[in-house]
Amino acid sequence: MSRPLIARIDTAALAHNLAVARRAAPGARILAVVKANGYGHGLARVARALRGADGFAVLSMDEAALLRAEGYTHPIVLLEGFFHPDELADIARLRLRPVIHRPDQAEILARARLEHKVDVFLKIDTGMRRLGLEPQRLKDTLAVLRGSPQVGGITLMTHFARADEPAHGVAAPLALFRDTVAGLGLPVSLANSAALLAYPESHGDWVRPGIMLYGASPFADRDGLDLGLLPAMHLESRLIATRLLRKGEGVGYGAAFVAERDTKIGVVACGYADGYPRHAPTGTPLLVDGRETRTLGRVSMDMLFADLGPLPGAHVGSPVTLWGPGLPAERVAAAAGTIAYELFTALAPRVPVEET
Ligand SMILES: *Cc1c(COP(=O)(O)O)cnc(C)c1O
Repeated sequence: MSRPLIARIDTAALAHNLAVARRAAPGARILAVVKANGYGHGLARVARALRGADGFAVLSMDEAALLRAEGYTHPIVLLEGFFHPDELADIARLRLRPVIHRPDQAEILARARLEHKVDVFLKIDTGMRRLGLEPQRLKDTLAVLRGSPQVGGITLMTHFARADEPAHGVAAPLALFRDTVAGLGLPVSLANSAALLAYPESHGDWVRPGIMLYGASPFADRDGLDLGLLPAMHLESRLIATRLLRKGEGVGYGAAFVAERDTKIGVVACGYADGYPRHAPTGTPLLVDGRETRTLGRVSMDMLFADLGPLPGAHVGSPVTLWGPGLPAERVAAAAGTIAYELFTALAPRVPVEET
């Protein structure tokens, strides 16, 4: 038998989560965010499951080209736009929609000689201070784009920094965006998963859900199931050894866990080289034989330890869920001081992936 670690991707869950997004934002078109290899779930597989979306958003030309090669004719947005003028010929040929986030990119595009017009998403910085035009640069940048025969449709966009935090929300950036674009009459795109779920007033013409499509919650205080979402990734393995740990014995590198009494432990075939977070401390939840227990000690490259004190019947071969149905990735992430986004996208190429 091969190493038992496997990531199962539930394509029906992906489609279900897209339907949840549709119901939550009935008036908007959905740009399914499938960057980072479909948040680690596999780009081609995710696109197939989410083909009912109205468009896809990716980061790289490679991802966009793969989607076109798979035959998708959907609008495809390049979330970081183009990095070099040389990319514009392919952007036009593949009919991609780059995000224009600096005034000089508008100038470069306006001067290019391309085989088709290019539709663009023009991004405004409403307070995240990452990408986008300063609001006062919108008018002149728009004039450059509108003056160019190379530029087709223009959608105005922004991205929220704190839509996932109820104490902050989207009110201030949304008001600034509204003020900035007032009277322009152009389509707009603002909402990530958190804004889509929590702030209907932010929906606009195109919503951009990412994490919720994969079944995880963007909010710290609720998990995906609370929001009606289904986890799309099930990272599962098995126990490959068990031991009796005697009182006072340490386990693993650094003996980071020391037994306070005699207890049974299991060794799970999954480690940080598989994408499991190395910083997950003793106490991080996992399921053995479908029942919740906790990790013990330090995560190693290829293995981690399960506390079998409460599960004396567990044995070599017992199934282990690292995250998935019955154990939201959000909980594992919180225990490890990170977020489900990072767990999903860190899934290592060496982990076999199967569709269910
Ligand atoms: C990644 C990304 C999204 C999706 O965010 P989620 O929190 O995963 O829903 C939306 N918009 C932009 C610009 C992004 O970079």
